Amino acid sequence: MITAETAVVNVPNFINGEWTESKTAEFLNVINPATGEAIAKVPLSNAAEVGKAVESAARAFPEWRRTPPEDRIQYLFKLKQLLEDHLEELARIITRENGKTLGEAKGELRRAIENVEVACGIPTMMQGYNLEDVARGIDETMIRQPLGVVAAITPFNFPGMIPFWFLPYAIACGNTFILKPSERVPLTMRRAMELLEQTGLPRGVVSLVNGGKDAVNALIDHPQVRAISFVGSTRVARHVYARAGEHGKRAQCQGGAKNHVVVLPDADLEMATQIISDSAFGCAGQRCLAVSVAVTVGEAQKKFRDSIRDTAASLKVGNGLDSGVQMGPVISEQSKQKIESLIETGARQGGKVMLDGRKALVPKYERGSFVNPTVIDGLPASSELTDTEIFGPVLSLVHADSMDEALAFLAKSAYGNQASLFTTSGAAARRFRYEAPAGNIGINIGVAAPMAYFPFSGWKDSFFGVMHGQGRDAVEFYTEKKVVIERWAKEHSRKF
Ligand code: NAD
Repeated sequence: MITAETAVVNVPNFINGEWTESKTAEFLNVINPATGEAIAKVPLSNAAEVGKAVESAARAFPEWRRTPPEDRIQYLFKLKQLLEDHLEELARIITRENGKTLGEAKGELRRAIENVEVACGIPTMMQGYNLEDVARGIDETMIRQPLGVVAAITPFNFPGMIPFWFLPYAIACGNTFILKPSERVPLTMRRAMELLEQTGLPRGVVSLVNGGKDAVNALIDHPQVRAISFVGSTRVARHVYARAGEHGKRAQCQGGAKNHVVVLPDADLEMATQIISDSAFGCAGQRCLAVSVAVTVGEAQKKFRDSIRDTAASLKVGNGLDSGVQMGPVISEQSKQKIESLIETGARQGGKVMLDGRKALVPKYERGSFVNPTVIDGLPASSELTDTEIFGPVLSLVHADSMDEALAFLAKSAYGNQASLFTTSGAAARRFRYEAPAGNIGINIGVAAPMAYFPFSGWKDSFFGVMHGQGRDAVEFYTEKKVVIERWAKEHSRKF
């Protein structure tokens, strides 16, 4: 941590429709992980600043909820166009602060825009239902109403996409919204907020507060914040869920992952290799849906082992802004060290490091936090590496004699974000879909990321809550149901 005096560029907060410098004395450097350079300084805003954002959101709420849904979504239509027009610029910001390649950054922005598009359907999605004559002359109606002030806390790995799992739905439903982005990547949403400002959205409907854990806890504890959406590691997801629960607040908390892919002998191994390589090493393995363990069944083992090693070895690693680069750095030097020490643990515990990505050096970027693609074979079915989220470009290979054995291996995992199967057998695919203990299932798919009109699911330690992000679940999460029962007996009315 450094002090405000050594500032590069301070990232402001956006509160009550105004860009304001934080008053905190605590700032962190925002580092470009490809170059190791500080590109900005982010404030660790305090509880008082969070309080100001909440108060302005609470003031904006009564008028915003009275604004017809049809009028509310007009701002989102404008936002969609602005995001399209600035896609390249936003993608470059993502690559600079997060490290992923420009192509990957554009891909995540497409997903962000897709969520804005889906939320434009709120006038239909937010409808309730009714029934006449639930008893003679009595009618019953369910209507949905917004909650009030809601907040979202997001992680470093998708700076442009994950805030949009929440923001468009929350405001389209009539809530006012506060975002606390990851302090490691605050620049993308800073620019996105400037675009949102250009839509003419009334002040206080959306605010941005930069910070770390104190800002998060202040949001959870503030009595006027009604609901919390969280995405990040399981340790913090558990904390946020428990703390929100103590206040009786609704919360949806998406946590970490350890994703498995099962490769059957009848799979199209060439296709499987390409797709699994992209899943394991794309975004430098820092996707919550990245495949981390490949379980080969029967004869798939030998062929797949060799082909995945060769494909991984051929990937071009470098600065995501440079053309031809297929994999960027991991988020920080600290993260690189953690990944390298986990590879060491794997080797110590009996794994054979077939492709070793430690000590990666990229010419011109000696200060970048690079880890090359790594493939470890022959780990015991239960070892630290097969059970721990690595969040880096490391693929472990384990072998099973049968689909039963592979499914039993998956069932042992504490996480349940995603499981994939590669096969050409419909029956095997159906069995996998039926039995695999994870919330997002891929059949011949490496990154089974649900489209915006489906919930971003997740089971076990990968999710705490009931309603997920995106689509109908988001509408359910951001609204409260009210049921009205009415009797209008003829004899009580004036005769017309
Ligand atoms: P993180 O848990 O370190 O941080 C996430 C957010 O929580 C940040 O905004 C951070 O400021 C805040 N935070 C950190 N420590 C806190 C604390 N002690 N108390 C309160 N708030 C705190 O996660 P990260 O490193 O930014 O992101 C990577 C993790 O996110 C991985 O575990 C990954 O699997 C997970 N992830 C999950 C999903 C999903 O959909 N399940 C999606 C993306 C990322």
